[in-house]
Amino acid sequence: MRISMIGTGYVGLVSGTCFSEFGVEVICVDKDAAKIDRLNQGEIPIFEPGLDALVTSNVAAGRLSFTTDLAAAVARSDAVFIAVGTPSRRGDGHADLTYVYDAAREIAAAMNGYTVVVTKSTVPVGTGRAVERIIRETRPDADFDMVSNPEFLREGSAINDFMRPDRVVIGTESERAQQVMRQLYRVLYLIETPILFTSLETSELTKYAANTFLATKITFINEIADLCEHVGADVHDVARGIGLDGRIGRKFLHPGPGYGGSCFPKDTLALVTTARDTGSPLRIVETVVDINARRKRAMADKIIAACEGSVAGKTIAILGLTFKPNTDDMRDSPSLDIVPALLEAGATVRAFDPEGMDEARALLPDITYCDDAYEAMTGADALVVLTEWNAFRALNLARVKEALNAPVMIDLRNVYTPADMAAAGFRYTSVGRPTPS
Ligand code: NAD
Repeated sequence: MRISMIGTGYVGLVSGTCFSEFGVEVICVDKDAAKIDRLNQGEIPIFEPGLDALVTSNVAAGRLSFTTDLAAAVARSDAVFIAVGTPSRRGDGHADLTYVYDAAREIAAAMNGYTVVVTKSTVPVGTGRAVERIIRETRPDADFDMVSNPEFLREGSAINDFMRPDRVVIGTESERAQQVMRQLYRVLYLIETPILFTSLETSELTKYAANTFLATKITFINEIADLCEHVGADVHDVARGIGLDGRIGRKFLHPGPGYGGSCFPKDTLALVTTARDTGSPLRIVETVVDINARRKRAMADKIIAACEGSVAGKTIAILGLTFKPNTDDMRDSPSLDIVPALLEAGATVRAFDPEGMDEARALLPDITYCDDAYEAMTGADALVVLTEWNAFRALNLARVKEALNAPVMIDLRNVYTPADMAAAGFRYTSVGRPTPS
């Protein structure tokens, strides 16, 4: 079995590498020649724990290769996965399907013999049918079937998520395509992973429903956290108290500065837009999108309030810029709202992130980038923990206090406990927890 993975980004590179680890021969394709060059020189263009070793071993085994030549790769493949980006379209919140449709045209022109065409990208309901139409128009003689196989991996734990998923969703009406997909995921059958076969539309919608449900859960606990601050309750105890109920579940009940990243913001927005267009609006999700956008701005206000109402002329140290730890991905990170709001309020910002600073430099050009956490906080008037990297979980508090101008910490990830911080002499602000008096 040989497959092509079109798009060698966070999803395409991880999925392609993991399929090769499953024993499939995989050709990863990208139109970004610099990315392919780096991969061919053994360099991994993204930060994802464990990916480096897995790519190296599968390339050495001859099962994994990288090319810009889409036509040659597709012509040799039994299945072609489309794993290109589907960002928000400027202005209206729809998913921008330009990359998907362009890839479909290129694939159509190159297909050779029976081919299964799979959308792995997150695409709105109806996209699979549209891709099918494009391929038929481009190549009326083509022998192919369409499949939707959305990806549920998370950056930071992507390899484990792909190799041991909670489930795999495969949307297709074709028995022949189902057989090909079964063969590709054969290894997961052995570990009894639930594999759901559905229609194209159901599979496409399942991915959006999953992401919007998770975004809703985060937003719910964020609002409960705000309420906790007003009534003197502790959001972590509330989260545990509700999460131990099996109907609710404990995961995704950690409050913070609002969800970010390359998926939740754009996927919630795209689903809201799709639902509105079909005349069946999703009012809960509309509200979630609105609350989350306001929350990021509110976090800047929280920092300002912790600095006695003004950051004008003050230096703020920021630890963590990526939307979550263990990734270098800066897309829609809360830092992209919070940092500019602090700058606008007159602050000088010094920041450190273990992996995100290369990406961040272009997006946040007006701040000082530091070599480590302590350098960032030296001489600062307040310290903000914005991303919960392990490196920030066990700071030497005596050293932190010495480095800062004033012992002020705003912990937007609740990495530290209010009692410990009070005992260490900090003025400590966190999310949804009472401050000890
Ligand atoms: P990405 O931007 O990291 O990668 C996309 C890649 O596709 C880029 O390298 C780009 O150069 C390449 N590309 C675009 N058009 C091409 C073409 N015609 N031929 C060859 N290459 C082409 O995107 P990503 O984060 O990997 O996301 C891809 C899709 O997977 C999106 O739909 C996203 O919503 C979905 N998804 C992402 C995640 C995640 O955690 N990043 C998780 C699940 C699903």
